[in-house]
Amino acid sequence: MTAPRIGVLGGTFDPIHHGHLAAASEVCAALGLDRVLLVPTATQPFKTDEPVSSDEDRIAMLERVAAQDARLQVSRVDVDRGGITYTLDTLTDLRAQLPDAELFFITGYDALERFDEWKEPARLHELATFVGVSRPGHGTPDAPGPFVLVNVPALDVSSTDVRRRVREGAPIRYLVPHCVADYIVEHDLYTGGRDD
Ligand code: ATP
Ligand code: MG
Repeated sequence: MTAPRIGVLGGTFDPIHHGHLAAASEVCAALGLDRVLLVPTATQPFKTDEPVSSDEDRIAMLERVAAQDARLQVSRVDVDRGGITYTLDTLTDLRAQLPDAELFFITGYDALERFDEWKEPARLHELATFVGVSRPGHGTPDAPGPFVLVNVPALDVSSTDVRRRVREGAPIRYLVPHCVADYIVEHDLYTGGRDD
């Protein structure tokens, strides 16, 4: 049996949007992956002082989306460990959970711009193949490789913009899946209090 090829897309996912999903789908097809794990972070190292929605709200939105696409699965590995999420721990734990799998860590060009500040970059390359995905507004990163680069149809959407739109009463449908837009309304997320 050949090793299952598993993509790993880490993120704050506050909320998940179509940019994340286009990236996951494109990499899945380009690299012949069997599935992609959506892995919400506990505390993102570069966002330690920013308020983030609860783990349960972010996971509930991810679960709704994953229920509609057999290629996608949600992993709680980072929220269950808690604290600051380092990709080194994410990949170490996933390697233990999925010892037969070949892992592909998917990350946008914006995040790769700071790859040299990540914990133990050299070790990270031993744990997974790193896949950089294009993102509008960000050029090809000059990060210590090797990276597989995958061009993703440009969707200029960010979670920050989705939150701002909700706060200002602007539409978010077609930027996020309908089930996510519905969840945001049902749970009154992003309507106040945050200044991003
Ligand atoms: P925020 O604005 O809160 O930072 P975000 O939209 O950047 O949210 P994250 O959860 O930070 O989303 O991103 C998770 C991963 O998805 C990162 O690797 C990021 O580069 C990638 N990503 C996010 N949006 C896009 C997009 N529109 N196109 C390609 N990759 C994306
Ligand atoms: Mg981001």
